[in-house]
Formats: sequence, structure tokens, C-alpha cells
Amino acid sequence: MSEPLFDARANKALGQHFLFDPDVLRRIAGLLGPLKGLPVVEVGPGPGGLTRALLAHDPARLTVIEKDTRFAEALGGWPEAVTGQLRVIEADALELDAATLAAEGEATLPRLIANLPYNVGTPLLVGWLKQSARWGPMALMFQKEVAQRICAPVGHDLYGRLGVLAQSARRCRIAMTLPPGAFRPPPKVASAVVTLEALPSSEAFDDLAALEVITAAAFGQRRKMLRSSLAQATAQVGMTPEALLAAADITPTLRAEEVPVAGFHRLARAWRANAT
Ligand code: SAM
Repeated sequence: MSEPLFDARANKALGQHFLFDPDVLRRIAGLLGPLKGLPVVEVGPGPGGLTRALLAHDPARLTVIEKDTRFAEALGGWPEAVTGQLRVIEADALELDAATLAAEGEATLPRLIANLPYNVGTPLLVGWLKQSARWGPMALMFQKEVAQRICAPVGHDLYGRLGVLAQSARRCRIAMTLPPGAFRPPPKVASAVVTLEALPSSEAFDDLAALEVITAAAFGQRRKMLRSSLAQATAQVGMTPEALLAAADITPTLRAEEVPVAGFHRLARAWRANAT
């Protein structure tokens, strides 16, 4: 199939925007360093441009998850699939967990590299962050604005729930950006690849469930002061917002966008202490 044919055959509902430029693909595949002898997972291989660039690193095993039968079938016929170096799983990545994907008996955590379908990029990332300890470094392509949200520091316009969750588990960095014209068919907006390296265990915050409750409440009403935006979340655990904020040493008149990631950890910890 030639490149223009992909324009006509791309399935919008599956967020299909493909990369064909070998230099771009080589750069993405190299963002996490050499992959030789390592387990790697790619979500949404599509026609396989990135898959080919990843196989050029000679990983121990490359597991790809593709929802579109057309692509899964074609990849299943590649020589590397026949030898077992390439494992093709035809599935919805939202329904798979890390345990299913981690190759049995492999001592090294799988690296995750993908040009993600935009419509499910955020829920996929949040699911992986909840199992962060089971994943090695990640290099993931998102819409540029989502990438900026993931990496935004406190005080930035795009600082919010996603950034707090991601930065609680990972060191996040925008490693490259690509204009719409780099893809076939081109999306409406620019894209960016974020690298997410695991934080040392002394810095990582593992109660993402509590953090989700607190950040959803705080950023759900981001213009309000925390003493009012947190009212519902604290009522759930029989506390007042003032008591929670005092326990976490946060000024009650602050708004969510003014609280650094570490402040959200203290809030989530204090909330959890009352919830259990
Ligand atoms: N990796 C290819 C590339 O860079 O050219 C394709 C990337 S395209 C942005 C996203 C791919 O993810 C498509 O092949 C699409 O079919 C697949 N996809 C969409 N939703 C999916 C899901 N829920 N689970 C697995 N694959 C999915």
C-alpha cells in the first residue's frame, strides 16, 4: 500500500495518523537509548513504521498491541513475528494491563514506546501510571497540548490533574515536537513525544487513587479556593476541608494551580489517613 492510500484508509475513530519518515522514526525509536536485548512494548503499530525502527535495535522481544485487524494481520506475517521476536496482540490496549504485557520470566521492565492514538492517549497513560512500578522508561507521542499538560510545572497555565499524576510517578520531559505535516493523514494540531523516566522510589508517590480524588476535586473547580473546592472530597471521609488543609500544611485560600506536586502528595496522604 502506498502512502497516499493510507489517507483514504485511515480510520479516524482509531486516531490513525501515520509516520513514514525514516529519520523521524529512527529518532523516536532512539529516545530511550539502545534497546538491544531489552523487552519493548509498542501500542498502536499501525502499518509498522515505528515497529520497523524499533526492531532495528534488536530488542529481546517487541510486543505490539493493535486494535485494527488489518494491521494486526499484516504484522503477524512479518518474519520477526514468525521467529517470535515480534509478538502481535490484536486487542484494545485500554483493556490490557502491564501483567499481560510484561514478558514472562523477563528480569527487565518493558520499555514503552508509541505514537499513541490521540483519542485514548490520556486514559492509557493514566492506567500505566497507576502501574508505574511495572514499566521501564516510556517515550510516548501525544497531541502537543497534552504533552505540555503532562510536563507543566506549578503556576503554568496547563498545570493540572494530568501533570500532577504523571509527575508523581515519573520525570517527564518533552523530547521532540512534530508539525501536523509529519503525519499521513495530517492531524489538526502539532504533536510531541514525552519521555517518562521512573522517579527514584524515595521520590515517587504511589497512592495515585487518593491523588486522583484530590486533584479531580481541586482542579475540577480550579478558580475556587481549596477550602471550597475540596468540600465534597473531604465530606466523603468525614472531614472538613480546613482540617485536611491544616493536616497537609496548605494555606486554605490557595487555588489548585498554586499548589506544587509535593503539596498534593501531602493532601492525598492526609485524605487517605482519614479514609482508612
Ligand atoms: N505507530 C504508527 C505510526 O506511528 O505510524 C501508528 C500510530 S496511529 C497515531 C495510532 C494507532 O493506534 C493506529 O494504528 C490505531 O489503529 C491504533 N489504535 C487506536 N486505538 C487503539 C486501542 N484502543 N488499542 C490498540 N491500538 C489502538
